[in-house]
Amino acid sequence: MIDFAIPADLAAERDRVRRFVIDKIVPFERDPRLTAHGPTDELRQELVELARAEKLLTVQAPESLGGRGLTHIEQAVIYEAAGWSTLGPVAMNCAAPDEGNMFLLSKVADPGQVQRYLAPVVAGHQRSVFAMTEPDGAGSDPAQLATSATFDGENFTINGRKWLITGANGAKTWIIMARLAANPHLPEGPTLFLADGDQPGIVIERTMNTMDRNYVAGHGVVRFDDLVLPKEALLGKAGQALRYAQLRLAPARLTHCMRWLGAAERAQSIAIEHARTRTAFGKPIGEHEGVSFMLADNEIALHQCRLTIWHACWLMDNGEKARHESSIAKSFVSEELFKVADRCVQVLGGIGISDETVVEMIFRDMRAFRLYDGPTEVHKYAIGRKVLRG
Ligand SMILES: Cc1cc2nc3c(=O)[nH]c(=O)nc-3n(C[C@H](O)[C@H](O)[C@H](O)COP(=O)(O)OP(=O)(O)OC[C@H]3O[C@@H](n4cnc5c(N)ncnc54)[C@H](O)[C@@H]3O)c2cc1C
Repeated sequence: MIDFAIPADLAAERDRVRRFVIDKIVPFERDPRLTAHGPTDELRQELVELARAEKLLTVQAPESLGGRGLTHIEQAVIYEAAGWSTLGPVAMNCAAPDEGNMFLLSKVADPGQVQRYLAPVVAGHQRSVFAMTEPDGAGSDPAQLATSATFDGENFTINGRKWLITGANGAKTWIIMARLAANPHLPEGPTLFLADGDQPGIVIERTMNTMDRNYVAGHGVVRFDDLVLPKEALLGKAGQALRYAQLRLAPARLTHCMRWLGAAERAQSIAIEHARTRTAFGKPIGEHEGVSFMLADNEIALHQCRLTIWHACWLMDNGEKARHESSIAKSFVSEELFKVADRCVQVLGGIGISDETVVEMIFRDMRAFRLYDGPTEVHKYAIGRKVLRG
């Protein structure tokens, strides 16, 4: 059966989330602890406690870990509401990279690793990172992975350099991708490891200055200097990192779409209000076709984006990997929502580029969405290859 109706209890929860974000979280958008390098850990902790008090913390997590085990389509509805403020997902512990990392760990980590590395992240007590991208190695093409790991039968030793690592500064649960060298004990190749962020051998060189400021602690440049990890640090099977990265990425890129859809709707609501009240040439600017068409284009895009997200979610909830559909969704939604945000800036006129409204922040923060979890061109490259294969 094809059914687009949102069940009444889910709609009620969506409305509760939206109310929570508007009443309790939006006021923090002017908090000085929302810095050029994203919300500080202190701000994050305060927001997390607000969500905890409302029983809205990490609702997506498996029930065995205290969450509600939301389906993908339920997440789409709830995250869209949370995304009204970029701080909403931070409060509810469903922001990147933790949300994707929790998903991956819930699928791949062994029981000991779940207790040590996953449970504290689900509880909102600590943060996590996924360290893959490198200045001279892995990026769009993760097969170029240059960070190395050796194994002597007891310990792994990791060396290499990463950048754009979101949340690196202060995160405790680290998922590190490195290329395991040939050894007599385990298969070689790209492999995932778990580490504690504060252990010797993990050096945070600096936090990068970037356009966006919605991710806690910003994005770090990181060096592994003879990082020694015990054999229990192996996450999943050796040599399988690229497969696990795909397992993480398909749902993770969709959750980005869901959260940014909520932010774009907010920008649109501000633009609509401005178009109704600001006048030029004898009438409200919204009555000029040039403006009403921009708002109409936004409405069309928001609707198309929501349907595209829901379809990919529906496939995954029905047991499909939906890699192709999630690629289509990620490339389409990131491009369309950025155009929505840009048109909202235009409708606002000069104040659109100022922080008089939150539209400027949404526009700036959203730009990176077209790059992370696969730049648009890389998704199109994958879609094109599939199309040509027939
Ligand atoms: C805000 C932000 C947060 C991030 N957080 C993390 C993180 O937490 N952990 C992590 O590991 N990484 C993270 N990244 C890195 C992100 O995953 C990479 O930026 C992304 O994979 C692209 O890699 P790259 O930047 O090295 O670009 P490159 O691989 O250098 O590619 C540059 C450009 O080349 C083009 N291109 C590449 N391949 C193709 C192709 N096949 N066809 C056509 N065009 C192509 C694309 O236009 C692409 O934008 C983050 C990035 C950003 C912007």
